[in-house]
Formats: sequence, C-alpha cells, structure tokens
Amino acid sequence: MIQTLILKSNSNIQAKGSVIMKKQPQRTCIGCREKKDKKELIRIVKNKEGEISLDRTGKANGRGAYICDNIECLEKAIKSKALERNFEMSISEDVYNELRGVISE
Ligand SMILES: [Zn+2]
Repeated sequence: MIQTLILKSNSNIQAKGSVIMKKQPQRTCIGCREKKDKKELIRIVKNKEGEISLDRTGKANGRGAYICDNIECLEKAIKSKALERNFEMSISEDVYNELRGVISE
C-alpha cells in the first residue's frame, strides 16, 4: 500500500525578516538639506527672548534648526543664510564662531 502524503505549502505567507531598526526622528540639515537622525545633528535654538544658542541637550525650548556635524554644511548654511531665513533675524558672527568651534572639535 502506497501512502500519499500531501504537503500543503504555506508559501503564501511571506516571512519578512525582522530587521531591528529603531525609528529616529528625522530633521533636515540647514546646510545640505538632507534628512538625518536628529541625534546626528547639532541643534540651534532661538528662545523666546530672540537669542540664538546651541542646544546640546536637544531639549531647549524654542524654535530649532538643525545642522550636520560637518564644517561644509556650516559653510553652506552661512552662504545661503539658512539660519537667517529659518529664524527670520540676523545671526551674529558669534553664533557661527560657536558652531565652528563645536564642529571642528
Ligand atoms: Zn548637512
């Protein structure tokens, strides 16, 4: 006696690889305009007094702008006046100097 074994294939079920990827909030660099993980970028914040400062914690209140930790992006942002446009005010050279200091570290 021949036994026939019928195997039903469940190949319709696609086994998607479970890639572990934590979703990071994305922000756009004001220099290269590329979207990057927020934690890879340097945050510049304007507080309600209208003062611009670098926000190393990423949690300061105010309107923020983000830039890559990259001197080329900073130069691009300076040339295109991205910060001025973002914050709708003139940016003092001190802010740029501070950024230069942080980025070249
Ligand atoms: Zn950039």
